Amino acid sequence: MRVLSCDICKKKVDDPVTGRNFFFYQNRDICEVCKDALEVTIKNTVRTKQPFAYDWYRKLVMDNVEKSIQKGRV
Ligand SMILES: [Zn+2]
Repeated sequence: MRVLSCDICKKKVDDPVTGRNFFFYQNRDICEVCKDALEVTIKNTVRTKQPFAYDWYRKLVMDNVEKSIQKGRV
């Protein structure tokens, strides 16, 4: 059985399935709990952004991922 650990909360995920209980952001491994929390954070920022730009969005996502990894939580 494969085991991966989340780059943010460091929890281990048994039998990870990408897109179901495990997600990749570029080279980062993120568990479902952290991904959901990240999406909530990002959604709140995206709502205030006009006009919307995809490059900006991608950078925002990765900035939040890196920030969360440093903090050890989202
Ligand atoms: Zn996690």
